[in-house]
Amino acid sequence: MSTLHKYRTILLFGMPGSGKGTQGGVLGQLPDMVHISCGDVFRKLPKYGALGKEIVHYTSRGELVPDDLTVRIWERHIQILEMQELLLPEKHTLLLDGLPRNFDQAERLDHMLDVVQIFYLIVDDLEKARDRLRSRALRENRLDDMNEEVILKRLKSFEDETIETLKFYDPSLVFKINASHEPLFVLRDIVNRLAVLQTSVRIAARPFAYQEADGDVD
Ligand code: ADP
Repeated sequence: MSTLHKYRTILLFGMPGSGKGTQGGVLGQLPDMVHISCGDVFRKLPKYGALGKEIVHYTSRGELVPDDLTVRIWERHIQILEMQELLLPEKHTLLLDGLPRNFDQAERLDHMLDVVQIFYLIVDDLEKARDRLRSRALRENRLDDMNEEVILKRLKSFEDETIETLKFYDPSLVFKINASHEPLFVLRDIVNRLAVLQTSVRIAARPFAYQEADGDVD
């Protein structure tokens, strides 16, 4: 896909069970934000189709979907959103959850993403993450959350994946959040940071803000 524009983008990183989906879902309700969870895009593909079947082959084993397929499906998803005007590069900020998930994906998506912030949701307590996944399995009927072995495999591979992916980005973009708290407090920490980010963008875009305040602007 050739794109002439880059999307202003915020990335959500965090191990399975860290609450990326919960936070992304809430933040995605903001008018300027479009939340895309790579896992959700995969799960919404019909299971009877060729792509859906191929995806389940990997996700049910706790393995990553190959990069080619991941990027292809994601780009198609973005095109559809743009065609429907649900995603407008000049208006929206993309909130990406679960993508990129390795260095190669970060490299391949770089021509489309202007990453302005990375939230890294950290859960120190592995048992807590596992508990969250177990309750999600019941709530959402997710195959990949039902098998303890698959859960463990995903939790173990997460750290290597993240360290590798983060190497692609400027460390100053990364904002760590303690995600062991209740979702409300995690959300508060993210929102506080977003407010700072938003304010600095506004100030940068309006160099005459001080004159305005003094009433010097005609
Ligand atoms: P989790 O955070 O628990 O891994 P997700 O909903 O993000 O849940 O992803 C579910 C599954 O979809 C992953 O275990 C993996 O198999 C696949 N997947 C999601 N995102 C990607 C990606 N960017 N690249 C490859 N596979 C992915």
